[in-house]
Amino acid sequence: HYDILIVGAGHAGAQAAIALRQQKFDGSIGLMGNEKYPPYERPPLSKEYLAGDKEFERIMLRPQSFWGERDIELLTGCRVANVDPAGRFVVLTSDEEVSFGKLIWATGGSPRMLDCPGSQARNIHGVRSRADVDKIMAALPTVEKVVVIGGGYIGLEAAAVLRKLGKTVTVVESLNRVLSRVAGEPLSRFYEQEHRNQGVTIELNAKVESFETGDDGMATAVQLADGRSLAGDMFIVGIGIIPETGPLVAAGAAAGNGVDVDQHCRTSLENIYAIGDCAAHSNPFAGGALIRLESVQNANDQAKVAALDIVGEECEYNAVPWFWSNQYDLKLQTVGISTGHDEHVLRGNPDDRSFSIVYFKDDKVIALDCVNRTKDYVQGRKAVVEGLNLDRDEAANPEIPLKEVGL
Ligand code: FAD
Repeated sequence: HYDILIVGAGHAGAQAAIALRQQKFDGSIGLMGNEKYPPYERPPLSKEYLAGDKEFERIMLRPQSFWGERDIELLTGCRVANVDPAGRFVVLTSDEEVSFGKLIWATGGSPRMLDCPGSQARNIHGVRSRADVDKIMAALPTVEKVVVIGGGYIGLEAAAVLRKLGKTVTVVESLNRVLSRVAGEPLSRFYEQEHRNQGVTIELNAKVESFETGDDGMATAVQLADGRSLAGDMFIVGIGIIPETGPLVAAGAAAGNGVDVDQHCRTSLENIYAIGDCAAHSNPFAGGALIRLESVQNANDQAKVAALDIVGEECEYNAVPWFWSNQYDLKLQTVGISTGHDEHVLRGNPDDRSFSIVYFKDDKVIALDCVNRTKDYVQGRKAVVEGLNLDRDEAANPEIPLKEVGL
């Protein structure tokens, strides 16, 4: 039995345990996850860890000894199969039952994979966990050609690392631009050009139909809907995640795209919270729309909100979303949500590899994408948080600090 049982020992789950102890919560805490490692940072998996620049010890969220010192019981290798909200217990795949006072569901998501002929081949990889990336790294020495399926952040980051490692890389994107889900068109075009300059082939409007496989069951090429076939020794799929919500949904939790939570991260089930990538919440920076955010910021902030609610402190989730992505020597920092913008201003020249895009909706700044311009990111946050209107000409002038731009 744990007073607080946290299921999922990733960014959100680990932070919830830490925040509870910071709030002087003195009941028992179980931090349970199905991976066999202590909590670690996921962003480096498609960056420094894949590149071999950082070892696992350097991406652990806390040193191994931390959890015991805080009296947080870390339960690795445990997968929850069922939740009984009325009886307040979970059932593991091993059939063991663990009871709880309150439950925090922090299970993230599993990589969405393709479901087409040949898609089960062993050299088709997702990128979500250390185990996924260890498999990729083990195979790399004998790999020359990599086809990355999906032009989102994870696919592009992996492409950048693999290119640096000397591989021949093709990115296959089904839509007409990369990063279409998260960024405005100018940013997409900039990153497409950047990858091409680095020698990556980018195929847009390219829909995967199947994989050709050899006698050994390994995929040898990906077949596109337009009839073309792209050969590869390794295939990396980065087409998003499916939130891990099965047991909670089966237990009756309100859910759609993720488990629905309120501003306190409470689900519709009593005594059960959900946080992180798996939680759908009404976000003020998305006009109140029910969305899931897949970012470290969201995982950490929701974890703190749940912890505060548990110890009886008033707190609502209304943090401004932010995110980063590293590709080659480009550091992108984004704040706010640009979806639905009706205007944008380009600040600086993309050819200088240092510029920002300011997004407006109804004359209010709703988001910023800053490429190698940390100052804009820091100084522009306020405009996003407060939904300020800015003079377009001044905003476009990189010589004028963003915090000094008026209307
Ligand atoms: P996770 O960190 O995924 O943790 C969930 C844990 O729950 C996992 O360990 C999972 O195995 C476990 N679990 C699932 N189901 C069960 C079950 N039934 N029982 C027990 N355990 C279970 N974000 C950024 O902000 N910036 C970045 O640059 C960035 N880069 C990224 C690069 C990669 C390759 C990936 C994969 C993600 C990246 N992200 C980035 C996103 C960020 O890592 C996630 O938003 C964050 O990890 C979400 O935390 P979480 O705790 O919700 O989920």
